[in-house]
Amino acid sequence: MRSEPEIKPVVIVGAGPVGMLNALGIARQGIPVTVLERQEDVVRAPRAVVYHWATLDGLDRLGVLDDAVRTGFLKQDYCFLNWRTGERVRYGLSALEDSVSHPFNLHLRQDRFVEVMLRIIERESLPVDVRWGREVIGLRNHEDRVAISAVCADGTPERHQARWVVGADGAGSAVRNLLGLPFDGFTWPERFVATDVVYPFEEEGYDQTTFVVDEKFGAIIVKIDNSSGAGLWRYTYSDPVADSPESVEERMGEFFGALLPRAERRELKAYSPYKMHQRCAPTFRMNRVLLAGDAAHATNPTGGLGLTSGLFDSYLLIDALAGVVHGRQDAWVLDRYAHERRRVFKELVSPAASANKKMIFGSTRTAEGAAAWSRVQQLVGDEQAVRSRLMFPKSLETPARTA
Ligand SMILES: Cc1cc2nc3c(=O)[nH]c(=O)nc-3n(C[C@H](O)[C@H](O)[C@H](O)COP(=O)(O)OP(=O)(O)OC[C@H]3O[C@@H](n4cnc5c(N)ncnc54)[C@H](O)[C@@H]3O)c2cc1C
Repeated sequence: MRSEPEIKPVVIVGAGPVGMLNALGIARQGIPVTVLERQEDVVRAPRAVVYHWATLDGLDRLGVLDDAVRTGFLKQDYCFLNWRTGERVRYGLSALEDSVSHPFNLHLRQDRFVEVMLRIIERESLPVDVRWGREVIGLRNHEDRVAISAVCADGTPERHQARWVVGADGAGSAVRNLLGLPFDGFTWPERFVATDVVYPFEEEGYDQTTFVVDEKFGAIIVKIDNSSGAGLWRYTYSDPVADSPESVEERMGEFFGALLPRAERRELKAYSPYKMHQRCAPTFRMNRVLLAGDAAHATNPTGGLGLTSGLFDSYLLIDALAGVVHGRQDAWVLDRYAHERRRVFKELVSPAASANKKMIFGSTRTAEGAAAWSRVQQLVGDEQAVRSRLMFPKSLETPARTA
């Protein structure tokens, strides 16, 4: 007879930023965590870079901020550039200096962020067991436990059991699919292309976060780090032809030629074309399985609200799940997690990210585009308007509440 695997307190599926942050936070509360990750190493594709100021308090509480800041960097500036007219609107997080504890955004590549957490886990001997090369392919919710099937990179099957499972396995979540949950919403018709490129943007007057507003050359330009002299930057543009990823490369020259014209100073390091979604699972909890991050909700990344939402999910889920495992909290806190984080995504994150995308990648000549651009112009010299715009990410947080 097959012996049953031991029942672990918590298994997390996915060693992306959300999975690893949950693992670290739950382990900090003395609970052993097993992480099952499909890849054999940290996923390296160009993805999130910006951590809004409002998320930094949570990273600080979890003991991650200092290491993260040492690996990335803090910055305050923002710029909107109207590509057609050349008008620039600048403002900065200095407007929040008197009112918040971290009036900076952190810039740090998401793969480096995962590495930071792996280093902390090792340095502090936190009880996290990351099993690389394990793809979760089966899940069964029982009343008192969850049975999980995985397949190792060499094809060997593996079984696990856990009291609680967190599905943090990204937008294509196997966990969500195995629960039979749809991913309601829509996919935008165009592709975004995220490029990592060395280029002297600062010499050309760009700020470290610049939104280029234009129906054709709309872009998000964000400094990643100071490597290679001119610095490594993330330049993300929108490619209207979504039929084949291969053809993206053929058209890349036109976008680079317009915004990064000095070809001799330009060095493309990596790029990833991707489809964007506004999608959300109908529930973030089914019995003993919880969804977090992109597995629960996916948004286009204009304005950097994707990972931001995943971090705010994590801050709430870590306390709720650890409280339940330790018997300090009733399982209703997990329902509150599921309900509140879904509400925030549907009511705040997704509408804001959609409006950001429509504005930055739309025309300022339509009535809607002109109105959006005029709201940006009104930021000039209006401290109160700047502050209220900068406070928006804070509204995406769900404060923990003890029973
Ligand atoms: C190009 C790009 C740029 C972006 N820029 C920003 C930005 O600037 N700011 C921002 O806030 N957000 C941004 N986002 C969104 C951000 O990257 C995501 O919100 C973030 O990656 C979500 O993290 P996650 O841990 O939930 O999922 P993921 O990062 O997708 O991690 C999921 C992990 O689960 C693993 N996995 C998947 N299936 C299985 C399985 N069956 N078994 C085991 N493991 C599995 C994957 O290998 C992966 O390691 C961007 C996204 C993209 C694509």
